[in-house]
Amino acid sequence: MSQKIKSIFISCSDSVQCCDRAQYDEATIFEKIKIYIHIAICKACREYTNKNVKLTKLIKKSNLKACTKEEKEKWEKEIAREAKK
Ligand SMILES: [Zn+2]
Repeated sequence: MSQKIKSIFISCSDSVQCCDRAQYDEATIFEKIKIYIHIAICKACREYTNKNVKLTKLIKKSNLKACTKEEKEKWEKEIAREAKK
């Protein structure tokens, strides 16, 4: 097996790390491909990823409810105004 192909098969700890980065869109395309390949062959990491995805969705949902775009802009303006004082 060539070195390049070997690097596609990552360990579980590498997969978890890449997965966490992917949650925040910090992972590269290559890292995301490596996660997909790893979770295709590793059940434990597949379950971890599923939980992580659900959690991220929940967080995004609650953020949306807690603060709309308009509210956020309003807060930003108020903060900027306070900062000028
Ligand atoms: Zn794994």
